[in-house]
Amino acid sequence: MRAMMFEQFGALPDLVDIDEPDCAPDGAVIAVKATGLCRSDWHGWMGHDADISLPHVPGHELAGTVARVGSEVSKWSVGDRVTVPFICACGTCASCAAGDQQVCDNQEQPGFTHWGSFAEQVAIAHADTNLVALPETLDFVSAAALGCRFATAYRAVMAQGRLRRDEWVAVHGCGGVGLSAIMIAVAAGAHVIGVDPSPNAREFAERLGAVALDGTGDVASAIRELSDGGAHLSLDAYGSAATSAASIDSLRKRGRHVQVGLMVGDSAIAPVPMDRVIAHELEILGSHGMAAHEYPAMLAAIADGVIDPSILVGRTITLAEAPDALAGMDASVHPGMTVIQIG
Ligand SMILES: [Zn+2]
Ligand SMILES: [Zn+2]
Repeated sequence: MRAMMFEQFGALPDLVDIDEPDCAPDGAVIAVKATGLCRSDWHGWMGHDADISLPHVPGHELAGTVARVGSEVSKWSVGDRVTVPFICACGTCASCAAGDQQVCDNQEQPGFTHWGSFAEQVAIAHADTNLVALPETLDFVSAAALGCRFATAYRAVMAQGRLRRDEWVAVHGCGGVGLSAIMIAVAAGAHVIGVDPSPNAREFAERLGAVALDGTGDVASAIRELSDGGAHLSLDAYGSAATSAASIDSLRKRGRHVQVGLMVGDSAIAPVPMDRVIAHELEILGSHGMAAHEYPAMLAAIADGVIDPSILVGRTITLAEAPDALAGMDASVHPGMTVIQIG
């Protein structure tokens, strides 16, 4: 099968022919129809992720059809239209037993812990725990946008962020996660401020119903002024010491900061103003993907037309175009999500 592979971190990936993946007894092999290109893929390619060993096939935001199932799989059959959370859970550890598969003790992440979905097929472990059925009305390209960024934003805003109608929300970083969060927060009846230095990203944020700021100057005080005292909920959807600090600084008293953007390298131990956390009773929360069993509520909102991930897909490309798109990601001028169509 065809796949996009890199043999060295930071070196342009190649299109290669490799063997189809094995199917575990409790796993499934998915014929990939669409797979998102995400900033996490770029971090992985740059060597920022310790889970990755070389050579490597990235890709974790996938949608497709079930091509093979293991003998122990009971819920899925060949041909089923599916997606998966980017954190694939074991289904049996203490976190999974508590319903918190997104922080599974034995989690696997396609495209990180094993070869991913920039390929015609990808293996998914523990299929009965991890596969999510797609409604017939949801196309594969839109569904590929759900697996990581949209689902992550949904959980960050609705579950971890506990957003209520008429609250003020600040979203720092208007890439895939940030734009998803803006759409979800606007649909939930919030007043939303998006922050991004890119004019294209700001224009996209405004189209979704946010007030957009360019991030220059004192962003936090601009947000506190616009929102008459600060955001009730603020998300760092980019992931850096600077955006995380600006997010926390944007909050009103008793506000909630949700860290959604991955914090890697020097940002991994970003400073947090604990004096203000105490004095203003701030909440500092993390959000890490979304468990498969939480998808139905989100899929129902999509089916009702309340939220529409297809709007966030800025462009679709082929697998042959993926190496250049991955390598150019850090300087990308393409707003919204890039989705690779396969097959
Ligand atoms: Zn992703
Ligand atoms: Zn588990």
